[in-house]
Amino acid sequence: MTIRNRISGQFTLIVASILIGFSLLIYLVSATYRREEFYERLKNKARTTVRFLVEVKEVDNDLLRIIDRNTLTALIDEKVLILNEKNELVYSSVDDHPVRYQPGLLDTVRKTHEVETTNGENELVGILYEANGQRLVVLASAYDQFGQSKLANLRLTLFWGLLGGIALTVGLGFFFAGQSLQPIGHINQQVQTITARNLRQRLDEGRRQDEIDQLAVNFNAVLQRLEQAFEQQRSFVSHASHELRTPLAALKSEIQLGLRRPLSAERHTEILQNLLTDTDRLIALSNSLLVLARTLENLEAVTMRVVRLDDVLFTAQDELLATHPDYIVHVQYDQIPDSDTGTSVVGNEALLVRVVLNLLDNACKYAPDHRAQVRIGTQGDYVWLSVTDAGIGLSADEKLHIFEPFYRAPGATEFAGFGVGLAICARIMELHAGQIQVDSDPGKGSTFKVILKKA
Ligand code: ADP
Repeated sequence: MTIRNRISGQFTLIVASILIGFSLLIYLVSATYRREEFYERLKNKARTTVRFLVEVKEVDNDLLRIIDRNTLTALIDEKVLILNEKNELVYSSVDDHPVRYQPGLLDTVRKTHEVETTNGENELVGILYEANGQRLVVLASAYDQFGQSKLANLRLTLFWGLLGGIALTVGLGFFFAGQSLQPIGHINQQVQTITARNLRQRLDEGRRQDEIDQLAVNFNAVLQRLEQAFEQQRSFVSHASHELRTPLAALKSEIQLGLRRPLSAERHTEILQNLLTDTDRLIALSNSLLVLARTLENLEAVTMRVVRLDDVLFTAQDELLATHPDYIVHVQYDQIPDSDTGTSVVGNEALLVRVVLNLLDNACKYAPDHRAQVRIGTQGDYVWLSVTDAGIGLSADEKLHIFEPFYRAPGATEFAGFGVGLAICARIMELHAGQIQVDSDPGKGSTFKVILKKA
């Protein structure tokens, strides 16, 4: 079932229920009102008749019958009976059609003084008249043709009104549901044309600021992220192949050199040494590419637990010094944490070690004195760690790009590296909902700072 049909169906159901409810109420109120009014008229008739008969001396049964039949207000099939204590008929307005009533009715009238009931299609009232020691029961019955035909009219009007109202509701419901859902159909058409090849396309966001416009805005935001992710993947692949080509070309020329004969034993060893160096570089590069690819993909599944940032720092420091014994790392606590858990954060230890190791490595690599000054401290709900060096520094423009994969500042090309370390750091910090900041002056040095929420 389409949403359009469902909305118009529900709308019709609600409106039809209200219309039916109102119609029933109107009908029932009118029917009750008619009945009460008619009983009142019958009672008046009964009272007038009995008073005429008992109180006006000049009136006898025949005269009263004549008056009864000729009054202007005479009702259809009207009959009035007056009975005495012994249930003998004292007066009857008709001779031929006697009024039929339940045997116990007269006693009930004597007991309750007034009874309202029906006699087939006719309405019947019974009243007790007491005067001059007489106890007379007066029965008056008639058919309310005028009231019944008004009710029948009302029934007809309500029926057709209801039918018309429901038909109108179905039509209008269907029309307005279609109108409201039109923008969704429009969005549907636009979405169908979007493929992986034209992620640049955007949906029309409209100007109504309603839920459907909001949907288009959110969908566009998703498209934007998808496009960025696709773009990242594309540039990763092209950069990676470019980066791999250079060391592979170097390897090839070394091998070609090695195949030339004759070669001295020293030259042979030298070529093999170069091959080893280039292969090591290639392995380091492919390892970095693998890590970058993984961090760009999906790291959401990594396990997080509480780790101390100073422990992370010391592990990274040990790893760095094991491969670069000439590097110097000096650690200083800015605000000594008051407890053992003062620098605790929630994170993945191996990934955080990678971040700190990369910052320490860069600081020592790009500084002529190979020295990195590390400070660790807390501020409010956060733990921070900064790595400062007195190295080549970065210009304002370079700072904007250093977290992009494969970017290397012009001044960095004479140093070993592939330009992927900081991109990995940024992605890992993003995963930890942390921050990485850089403050640098060209020629003077740089400070990289990571900030994480306390555990
Ligand atoms: P790599 O150091 O292997 O080139 P990174 O991703 O770690 O790759 O760094 C990207 C670029 O940022 C570097 O090439 C360099 O230009 C700049 N950079 C990073 N750290 C420093 C630093 N401490 N001092 C100066 N420049 C830096």
